[in-house]
Amino acid sequence: MPPGKVYHLKTLFDWINRDYFSGSVRCKLAWGRVRAARVRRVRQLGRFEPRANRIVLNPVLDQPGVPVFVVASVLHHEMCHAVVPAKRRSGYTEFHGPEFKALERKFRDYRAARDWVRANRKFLFQAPKNHVILPSRGVAAADAMSQLFLF
Ligand SMILES: [Zn+2]
Repeated sequence: MPPGKVYHLKTLFDWINRDYFSGSVRCKLAWGRVRAARVRRVRQLGRFEPRANRIVLNPVLDQPGVPVFVVASVLHHEMCHAVVPAKRRSGYTEFHGPEFKALERKFRDYRAARDWVRANRKFLFQAPKNHVILPSRGVAAADAMSQLFLF
């Protein structure tokens, strides 16, 4: 696993696994590929790949302007996917059902992380790397996309 320039995923994973999952989560970890800002269209901060049993985090998270509780929250979210499988419903697959959400909200900084991501979407997905924009409440509010789940 690539260690990451700023955040070491295995360290965060072990901490979250111990505190929230009694050490029961077993999966691989990776940072995704770095993409140019113009092609950073997939606004997904992380994903869980069930077949590979692997969590992949978007490398936009691996920079000093991103608080550790945000990276930890995304990792926790993906670990919830490792624990709560997607369920087949009539006509669609439910990824974030009630069981999932209940587990996700146990994370201490869940709300703070969600708010930070909403306020810093431009920083994460459009601005050049290392161009730090401090958290601002007003940035995302007008943007309808901010209502979507980001990871
Ligand atoms: Zn998800």
